[in-house]
Formats: sequence, structure tokens, C-alpha cells
Amino acid sequence: MDQPSRPPSVDRLAHGLAATLGLPHAAGVDIARRAIADGWRTEAEVLAAGRQWRRGLLLPVINASGVLAHTNLGRAPLGLDLAATPTNLEFDLETGERGSRQRGIGALLAALCGAESAIVVNNNAAAVLLAVAALAGGRQVLVSRGESVEIGGGFRVPEVVAQSGAALVDVGTTNRTRLADYAAAIDRAGAAVALTLKVHPSNYRVEGFVEATTVAELATLPVPVVVDVGSGLIDANCPWLDGPPPAWLAGEPAVRQTLAAGAALVTFSGDKLLGGPQAGIVAGRADLVEACARHPLARALRPGGHVIAALQQVALAYLGRSVARDLPFWRMAGAPLDALRSRAGALVDAVGAGTVVDTEAIPGAGSAPGAVIPSAGVRLDGDVTTALRRLDRPVVARRIQQATMADLRSVDPADDAALAEAIRRVLA
Ligand SMILES: *Cc1c(COP(=O)(O)O)cnc(C)c1O
Repeated sequence: MDQPSRPPSVDRLAHGLAATLGLPHAAGVDIARRAIADGWRTEAEVLAAGRQWRRGLLLPVINASGVLAHTNLGRAPLGLDLAATPTNLEFDLETGERGSRQRGIGALLAALCGAESAIVVNNNAAAVLLAVAALAGGRQVLVSRGESVEIGGGFRVPEVVAQSGAALVDVGTTNRTRLADYAAAIDRAGAAVALTLKVHPSNYRVEGFVEATTVAELATLPVPVVVDVGSGLIDANCPWLDGPPPAWLAGEPAVRQTLAAGAALVTFSGDKLLGGPQAGIVAGRADLVEACARHPLARALRPGGHVIAALQQVALAYLGRSVARDLPFWRMAGAPLDALRSRAGALVDAVGAGTVVDTEAIPGAGSAPGAVIPSAGVRLDGDVTTALRRLDRPVVARRIQQATMADLRSVDPADDAALAEAIRRVLA
């Protein structure tokens, strides 16, 4: 390699990074200094360092993994057009006084869920933390041993309950918990028991000699039932889809039905099966939601205005029955298999390589464990997944043995041409 005896000037390198990669000068200076300190010399090497730096920032990617709400790719994708304009986020337009950011979105979500009231926080972990802190701080929370779950990313039910200031009381056994187990715990501790917490085991399934207590059964106990349903499937009947609920949703608890069965509160994520932004929703009895809203943690856990704006769009799409058209997650989930196969065929034609194959996509975000959605994609010989990830617009595909699979269910049809171009480039 041709190595200049003296390193090129930092300033010139930074200008080069600005010209080729559009990096801010100050960032370029920093990158060039570090590259030189690391013993990198040529402009090409510094350019590579600049590319690496840029790839550490948020970038749009093409998700060809077949995992629709991919936890590492921002879960449910959601487009949002927001003008840089002030909004009435916390302003009551009637009185001219300070208003609540929760009021409008809370009413929309309550209507959507069939609840008396609702509030929004940063994510579902925050929703569970807030609900338990507000309703059970200093008292006991009954949790089935089979539902003391870890969701991933550090959400562990016993730790969240401990942080809330409540005491978790294990009920039943890992595989079988009956109503009588909860009732006995209440008999033992009396008024010290604040609530029962039922948690959906979102990311695993226990099979065999198992028994769990239903929400309807728990609702017969003298304490409120709080249910963490997890994924935010709003209605088990999926009225926003044309046909019946898809098979892959079987067994996924839904918000409306859980409330109808007697849950006092439900909590769920905004960016899983709801198909919205990262958020956590607490919906249910007005007095309990109010207690959550008044708790000091509510201020610390509140979402920003952009999240509320996005969630408002999502709630309006549900109420207006335009989910299948307007929410990318449900567009992907509902795409007919034939359409995916013909897109895969067009992709094979466009790149002049690969074969059309049937695949199995999954909803992702730890929802509906084990469920698959029939899908189609393109199989390429050889493992080119790393090369695809290294493109300027990275493509995330699946490696299956020594082949590469691009699943089209998780790809927006508007990105098919870009995907074809990406594949052509890595095969060239
Ligand atoms: C995903 C999930 C959580 C965590 O939700 P986040 O929105 O990621 O904080 C909590 N509980 C259940 C049952 C979940 O499925």
C-alpha cells in the first residue's frame, strides 16, 4: 500500500469527509484525529472510518428479515409527517389555560379500547411500573409463578415490581396456578394485597400439564386485576381487516376482550401489534387511571409531543377503520401471499439471480411466540447478508445455511426497486 511519509492534514481530511460523506466538519476533524492516532494513514482509510462513524447513526434500512416488527429495527415502522409548528399539546383552546397532554389521546385510546379512561407513557415497561407504583406502592402484588417473566431488554417482572415499591407475592407454581391460590394469598394477607398482576408470557410458551387463571376468574376476587397484555392487539376480532382474524394471532390476548373480561387496567406497548410509535398505554377504570396520572412517576415517564401526535394518527386509523391501509405493520401482515410471490418473481427478474421461495415470516417484537405468517421471498446462493448490511442503505436479510433469504413480507413494496439494486450490487 502507498503510505505517505507524513499523515495528511486533519483539516484536509475533514474537508474530504464533508465532501464525500456530508459529515459535519467538527465530526470530520474528530474522526480524522482518531484515525491518525490509530495509525491509519491514507485518505481511503480515513474515509472508511468516516463511513463507520456514519453507520453508527440512525439510518433507514430495508428489513428483508421477515420479522415484521423487528425489535432491533425499531419494531413497528411508522411514517409520520409533522410540520415544525406549535400544537395545543398542553393548552386548553377553550379556556386559554394550561391543558393536559393526556386528555385528547387518552379519550381516543379509551374509545378504542372500550375503557373508561387511558393515559400514555414512554413504553409498556413504564406503564407496568407506573400502574403498580400508583396502585400498590407499599402493599402486595400477587403474580402467578408462571407469569413472573422476563421479556428481554431487561424487563423482568420481579424487578419492575420491586422498583415500584410494592412487594411481589408469588402465587401457584410455574406450570399451574389456580384461582384458589390467589384467594388463599388474599385470605392470608387481607388488606395488604393491593392487586393481582397478570402478565402475558409474550415470548415463550409452556406446553403440557399447564393451567392458568383467566382474567374473568381473577375479576371475582376482591382486588383489582391489572393485566399486562404486552403486544397491544386491540381487538381479537380484528375488525380492521377484511376477513376473519389471521391464524397467527390465535392465543394473543387482546385489549378490548381483556377489559370486557373484567380487568381493571390493561397495559400494552404502542409499537408491537398496535403498529404505532414506542409508547406504553394504561387503559381501564377511570379512578385507577387517574391514580396513575397523579403519581409523581407519571411526569418522569410521560411521552413527548411527537409520540402523542403519532399515536393520535394510529388511534384515528383504528377508529376510522383504515388500519389495513394506513399502518405499515398491518399492511405487511395483511399482504396476500400471491402478491408477495409475484413481487419475489419480479425481483428475481430484475437482478437476474435467485429463486422465488415460500418462507415463514413472524410478527416479531416478542409477540405471538411460535406463530408464523406464510410469506414469500427470494433465495440467493451464498451468504451475502454481511455485504447487504454494509451498503449505504443497509439491507437486513436472513442467512439460512449457506444461502441468503430476502423475505418480502417485511419489505415495503415501494422499496422493491432499492432492494433489487442492493442485491445486484452485492452480487456484482
Ligand atoms: C413487550 C412487553 C413488555 C415491554 O414493553 P416495552 O414497550 O418494550 O417496554 C412488557 N410486558 C409484556 C408482556 C410485553 O410483551
